Amino acid sequence: MLADTFDFRAFVASAVRWCRSGLQPHLLAMVRSPYSGVPHDVGAAYATLAGRTGALLDAIDAQRLGLPPPDRDAMLRFAGRARRIFAVAETVEDDPLRAAIVATFELSTPLQAAQSPGFSDGSGAEFALAEAVPLEARDGVTARQKHFSASSLNAYAECARKWFYRYACAAIEDPGSSASAYGTAFHLALEDFHGEFPRPRAVDEQAMRRRVAECVTWAFERNRDGFETSVEFELQRRRAQRTAQRYVDWLLAQEKLAPFEVIGREVPVELDLDGYPFVGFIDRLDRDERSGGIGVVDYKTGSIATSAAEYREKIRKFRDFQLPFYYWARTAAGDRVTRLALLPLKDALLDVRPIVLEVVPGAVTEAKRSAAPDGTIGIPDLERARARMVEISKELASGTVTHFAVAGDPAACTYCAYATACAYKPPTVPERFAR
Ligand code: SF4
Repeated sequence: MLADTFDFRAFVASAVRWCRSGLQPHLLAMVRSPYSGVPHDVGAAYATLAGRTGALLDAIDAQRLGLPPPDRDAMLRFAGRARRIFAVAETVEDDPLRAAIVATFELSTPLQAAQSPGFSDGSGAEFALAEAVPLEARDGVTARQKHFSASSLNAYAECARKWFYRYACAAIEDPGSSASAYGTAFHLALEDFHGEFPRPRAVDEQAMRRRVAECVTWAFERNRDGFETSVEFELQRRRAQRTAQRYVDWLLAQEKLAPFEVIGREVPVELDLDGYPFVGFIDRLDRDERSGGIGVVDYKTGSIATSAAEYREKIRKFRDFQLPFYYWARTAAGDRVTRLALLPLKDALLDVRPIVLEVVPGAVTEAKRSAAPDGTIGIPDLERARARMVEISKELASGTVTHFAVAGDPAACTYCAYATACAYKPPTVPERFAR
């Protein structure tokens, strides 16, 4: 069996390279190999984790993934063997090193030979072919959780395979990133800040500026563990401080234009959509002091649509369900929701410029290409988003989905936590430069 011979040789070659260079990619290739002695899905999950954190053996030592005892023991055994051959490599040439790898990983034991039919020592000797194992019949998959969220539907809309990894398998524990820690800390800071300043007023400007700075400092201290280094922590904290002052600028400008009161922070929402339960949290709820209409505000610390028209198109194409879900949840709670807003808090160098969609009763025919941050969205669009949420929930809850397609757009894979394990992801498009 050529494939097994190849796998065997590839494993030994990766082990030699790991021993000679100490480079992580060779160790990751080893742990994913059928000759590693660890179950493939466990090896792939650890490889994915290490691809993000950069230290496979440390991750195994720290038992970063919660595993059943046999899998945990297999991983610890793998780490011990990898270290042993690494130590041996300092004193031996390549041939004895290969022999040491074969012996250390017990590649020639009867068990290993039985698990790896076609195992060869590379001498070219004949060997017997094993009977092919019949393929398992495909079976449907359901989510582990019984409730849905707009984020899970957004993940499904972006890439069904990503949804499968995250919501059906819980394939890895996502260790997070400094970008997500920045977002968490900023949300926390604004939640506290608006607890004291629900009605922004020009007379309170100095007090607001002082207080928002304190809230950012405190929130970042609470999330210090989310940043890998103290330099990263300090850089992100300073970025947040500058952005927070720009946020106060915007509050003061908005207060002159249309005074409002913050009536809810991190508001839990639940909604039953045709029997499918949805849960979530709304970052902020505002009441317009003149009209009494309710505004739903979602803080965004990553990249977002740059115009109201672009965001409306995402809703129409069923690529974003966040604000439609909040709209229906608060409407069901009895609110008259009149505006949906994304509030960008990413760039410290730019003024805060929310993307706002006023909710209007009829269909909207505004230009798709308008670059304006303010626009409208018709209730018919929100109804279609709601109907699509029900359809997707029904599909995912049915347990009949047997194939989860990978993303069509390679951009979806850029920060995907499952990219290392995802064998069929679309190839990245090389960047092109022109004069
Ligand atoms: S790597 Fe790309 S295709 Fe694979 S799960 Fe992630 S987003 Fe989907």
